[in-house]
Amino acid sequence: MFCKMVSGEIPVTRLYDDADCMAFADIHPQAPVHVLVIPKEHLQSTAHAEASHGPLLGKLMAAAAVVAKGQGLSGGYRLVVNTGDDGGQTVGHLHVHVLGGRHMGWPPG
Ligand code: 5GP
Repeated sequence: MFCKMVSGEIPVTRLYDDADCMAFADIHPQAPVHVLVIPKEHLQSTAHAEASHGPLLGKLMAAAAVVAKGQGLSGGYRLVVNTGDDGGQTVGHLHVHVLGGRHMGWPPG
């Protein structure tokens, strides 16, 4: 479904956009800042990643850091990658949650 954000079929405000990745606000924010960073190439989850995806995964993490900085999260933030049913993944297009703007407890629920 996030492929439709990439193609523009579902319009979103792009908080980050480069050749490989883009970011937009989560529709149901779980923190004052909750942004999703996705690869433009469809990759279902980290469980579907192969060694050849290494550079793309690195770019995704780097993009998430740029997003966090752009959102002013100088006090820290959390990156979350839910994977599969038990991991709580509900959208089958790899995405990194950037969560911040409040203290993050640990362990998560
Ligand atoms: P997951 O549970 O797969 O790790 O995270 C999926 C996230 O996508 C959820 O936080 C959910 O709120 C968000 N989401 C689902 N559908 C949409 C949508 O159409 N637009 C946006 N911006 N976020 C969505």
